[in-house]
Amino acid sequence: MKTTSLWWEDSLPVVVDHSELPEHVDVAVIGGGFSGISSALELARAGVKVALIDKEWPGYGACSRNLGLVVERIEGTTSGEMEGDICGIPRHKLITEGQRAHDFVEDLIENERIECGIRKRGKLVLAHTRSAYEKMAYHLERSQKFFGSSNAYMVPHKDLGKEIGANADRLYFGAKVLPDLIDINPGKLTAGLLRGLSSTEASICGGTECLSMERLRGGKFEIKTNRGNIIAEQVVVATQGYSGVASGSLRNKIFPFLAHVVATDPIDPTLLNKMLPTLRGVVDTKQMFSNFRPCDRESRLLLASHYLRTDSEGTQASRIMRYYRKLFPELENIGAAYCWKGNLALTADGLPHIGVDNGIHYCATGNVSMALYLGSKIAKRILHADDTETILDQVPLTKFPLYKGKPNLLYFLLRVIFKTLDLAKIAAPK
Ligand SMILES: Cc1cc2nc3c(=O)[nH]c(=O)nc-3n(C[C@H](O)[C@H](O)[C@H](O)COP(=O)(O)OP(=O)(O)OC[C@H]3O[C@@H](n4cnc5c(N)ncnc54)[C@H](O)[C@@H]3O)c2cc1C
Repeated sequence: MKTTSLWWEDSLPVVVDHSELPEHVDVAVIGGGFSGISSALELARAGVKVALIDKEWPGYGACSRNLGLVVERIEGTTSGEMEGDICGIPRHKLITEGQRAHDFVEDLIENERIECGIRKRGKLVLAHTRSAYEKMAYHLERSQKFFGSSNAYMVPHKDLGKEIGANADRLYFGAKVLPDLIDINPGKLTAGLLRGLSSTEASICGGTECLSMERLRGGKFEIKTNRGNIIAEQVVVATQGYSGVASGSLRNKIFPFLAHVVATDPIDPTLLNKMLPTLRGVVDTKQMFSNFRPCDRESRLLLASHYLRTDSEGTQASRIMRYYRKLFPELENIGAAYCWKGNLALTADGLPHIGVDNGIHYCATGNVSMALYLGSKIAKRILHADDTETILDQVPLTKFPLYKGKPNLLYFLLRVIFKTLDLAKIAAPK
């Protein structure tokens, strides 16, 4: 079994031009994931002198380790009243912002002409309790009334078999389908964006760890790295779930939510079609949620669950396969070909954030679409371009409770909380 991401095969790392560390730049972007690359690309295209630095190599982080489901959902927006608020922002405004981020990704892929296995198969949300199903149905009806239209629909228990086979009708009460959502091969998207960046004058520096940042008199920044120092007029911190001491105040505000993914051995297409006839990406409403999708030209399943565990990839792969065999007994004779881990950026309120702290631009988000969208917003702000607004500005990024840079105790506590809520059947509608 391989312990590196399936998405790295044939895609990453990318060999880039201009990999020397410059002494002086207009903007230094720290962290070569989707948010950092998105910022750097937009800035470089506008003629700004940019250096993108990554302590490993650009694309090494969550951007190339995720399931590739491009979601529109912002935490807390899938239940409750449209006029109700989340951290002071009306829910319907957050829903609109989430949709904007999703659409931004579709446009970006088209404009950059990136071949990244884009599929418009939509997403299936499985309700594991009756109340989760009813809450999702109620919310869908309210949102369709509020926004006028939506292609989303509910799938009652008797029709579940059209969406998902095997034991799903024993484990789930029904589902919701969001047919317009896309999924992608995130390795190919990362590589395509990096190739676009490499075609500009931007410096792209792998193996370059930001060790500290200091604001100089006059407002410039001195960034100390293991390869030398850079003076930058402006700095973007895009280290997300890999934030450490050098990410400054972000370190205690972004919690690294640890997740493992298994890619199965190839599955016979007829069998896969029986298991998942619509071949959609799937998530369920448990706190310790199931999240899976077909991938690799639909020859395998990618499976995620059992988060926040620091065990080896081997142990996690066995655990994840055992868990999914309850849903799909067909997996009995199918093994795990890959298992890898990655960190999502989790914030205290669960919302995506963007802002400026001590003169440093940052964003913090746990999903693909928001990372790309907010990265671009930061670039627009630096460029004083149009369209810099986002409703997400309105909520301050606060410290993550009990987190001081060492996540293990919190991993344990969160697992206990998720387990308790799951035993009490308190669902998280999605
Ligand atoms: C297993 C898994 C499954 C996921 N599935 C989905 C999904 O299906 N859909 C979805 O929307 N989202 C998903 N996500 C979340 C999504 O991948 C991330 O939210 C998204 O990639 C945002 O991060 P990013 O790409 O901007 O940063 P990352 O790709 O995490 O990049 C951060 C980078 O910063 C670098 N770095 C850190 N510190 C320093 C330093 N001091 N100096 C220099 N460089 C530094 C790191 O090396 C890293 O490359 C998933 C995440 C994981 C881990």
